[in-house]
Amino acid sequence: MSLSNGKDFRSPPMIDPFGRMVSYLRVSVTDRCDFRCVYCMSEDMNFLPKQDLLTLEELDRLCSVFIDKGVKKLRITGGEPLVRRDIMKLFKSLSKRLDGPLEELTLTTNGSQLEKYAGELADCGVRRINVSLDTLDPAKFRAITRWGVLDKVLAGISAAQKAGIAIKINTVALKGVNDSEVEAMIGWAHERAMDITFIEVMPMGDIEPDRFDQYWPLSELRAQLQSRYTFDDIEYQTGGPARYVRVRETGGRIGFITPLTHNFCESCNRVRITCTGTLYMCLGQDDAADLRAPLRASSSNTLLSEAIDHAILRKPKGHDFSIERNSSSPSVSRHMSVTGG
Ligand code: SAM
Ligand code: SF4
Repeated sequence: MSLSNGKDFRSPPMIDPFGRMVSYLRVSVTDRCDFRCVYCMSEDMNFLPKQDLLTLEELDRLCSVFIDKGVKKLRITGGEPLVRRDIMKLFKSLSKRLDGPLEELTLTTNGSQLEKYAGELADCGVRRINVSLDTLDPAKFRAITRWGVLDKVLAGISAAQKAGIAIKINTVALKGVNDSEVEAMIGWAHERAMDITFIEVMPMGDIEPDRFDQYWPLSELRAQLQSRYTFDDIEYQTGGPARYVRVRETGGRIGFITPLTHNFCESCNRVRITCTGTLYMCLGQDDAADLRAPLRASSSNTLLSEAIDHAILRKPKGHDFSIERNSSSPSVSRHMSVTGG
């Protein structure tokens, strides 16, 4: 399969109305998943018909145009990206851009298929990945993910480390679920030389539980941790929204992603595309631009590039997530699995 094109094409950088340069693209390659995490999806999700999805060739062309417009970091996500058929073809093709302007090719995964793909990902130049893991207790893991098996994820993490890939663990802070376990998770991650980042649950998409019951503000989690650990503020940045500290007792790093308690929008450098080619300029807003039509309208990238430029001019200043008890609707109607994390 020959996927890449547009290598000679260069256009001005993407700068939004607030002077922020867009250099980070997250691409959701499928809305499907082999888990049904209770904060992410409802149990009986309706997924997009397969014929609505962009092909891998189209996704690659779209990514290439973004790279030519200044994207330096590309994160493949979903749904679960590793359940999309032939996904390694997309990684292989995108990895060629690592010889040029693309600085990082990475992914966010639930880890269920990682044992199978770790070697191939490393061969494609993937150096760091995020693995989502909210508990180390097998029964709790099953309850949170509804369908997942903890041992498979742990085996995937080991395989990725053996292949030389650095891992960051992403843990959603869930009140009454993993609040008693966060210290154990930090110890486990840091012993294995992995960073761990905690994330506040975001009000995206209808799910069965009340989000207010799930929501554990990271200000509270941080206070709990500081009764045991000493934090040193550090400048470390990965290009994402996490703010990091180093834990003096373990030597490892903890990240905090706090969309609710502390809005991180002022330094936002990201946009997201879905598996149907819809561009979201902000995770927490509904405004979007269709890129599938200009992509399919012509084999030249001119229309596509113009559509992206127009969309970037609409990138909003920030989101306005809020979580209230018995709220009748989430702040954003689409599920996190549509645009990926
Ligand atoms: N399936 C992959 C995974 O779980 O890593 C990639 C997609 S998943 C949507 C990306 C990240 O979003 C995961 O770390 C997940 O925990 C997080 N996430 C999903 N729904 C969320 C929500 N409502 N609030 C905060 N984080 C959420
Ligand atoms: Fe799937 Fe990731 Fe959502 Fe869990 S968080 S249901 S693994 S997409």
